[in-house]
Amino acid sequence: MSSVKLVFLGTGSGKPLPSRGVSSVALFRDGQMFMFDCGEGTQVQLAKSSMRPGTLEAILLTHFHGDHINGLPGLLGTLTLNQRQGALPLLAPKGLKQWFKTLRQVGILNTGFTMELQEVGKAGVVLQGDGWHIEAHKLKHRVPCWGYAFVENARPGRFDLERAKALGVPPGPMFGKLQRGESIVLEDGKTISPDDVLGPSRPGLKIAYCCDTVPCEGAIELARDADVLIHESTYLAGEEKMAHKRGHSTCADAARCAKEANAHALILTHFSQKHPHVGPFVEGAKAIFENTYAANDFFEFEVQRRES
Ligand SMILES: [Zn+2]
Ligand SMILES: [Zn+2]
Repeated sequence: MSSVKLVFLGTGSGKPLPSRGVSSVALFRDGQMFMFDCGEGTQVQLAKSSMRPGTLEAILLTHFHGDHINGLPGLLGTLTLNQRQGALPLLAPKGLKQWFKTLRQVGILNTGFTMELQEVGKAGVVLQGDGWHIEAHKLKHRVPCWGYAFVENARPGRFDLERAKALGVPPGPMFGKLQRGESIVLEDGKTISPDDVLGPSRPGLKIAYCCDTVPCEGAIELARDADVLIHESTYLAGEEKMAHKRGHSTCADAARCAKEANAHALILTHFSQKHPHVGPFVEGAKAIFENTYAANDFFEFEVQRRES
């Protein structure tokens, strides 16, 4: 079964510091990497991390603020030097195509592979692949901004061995067929359908990424029943007024979002560089939502499946 691992490549807001880079999170699943935001220095952070890029499957940018995108041209240049072959989907708000046109016109960008540029304009599924899809919802920031959720497709329910035996299904290939959702016919002509031997289907993992935003409906939609909610936490609890004026959230806002959306775990990121330590952010969030973590650069998180 696939495992999903998150690696935080930069966890600060605004400007990169030697002690803390700016926004980027890599999600690894089955040797594929999905990158959410690509702040300045992201490729160096990735090289310093314990993860190898593997197959970069897609890059998703939330909005056009430098601390989320300035690492992209450099990363694409390196992929070209590394002779990447496959097409690379790149999703971002409207303005993406104009940006790339300009980069190409001034000769900064000459990728040796195909870029599939997609401007996100409406909520829903924006990208899908083998066993997964990515949804987008609009966030509320100073500029147009989209949050994303990586969602695995639902898996078939548990196979009830005793029930299958009782129905006369012989152990062997027929078990496999039923598990794959195919009906079978027994020697006596009786048809057994998967529903006869499989429990209810089990949801796949959901990982939501909400960065940057004030508390809003879109963030709650993304976070709904998520296994992990990654949420910006630029300011400390009690600083809501200033945070919201600047288009950001506090750690308490992030915790309220996780709680309201029934998320399982919350990971805070995008901390104001004024605050070098994450302790007070975690404390402020835990008062509202206990299962909270704070990411430092290179923080790795193995997403646990919640099996019944
Ligand atoms: Zn930011
Ligand atoms: Zn921003």
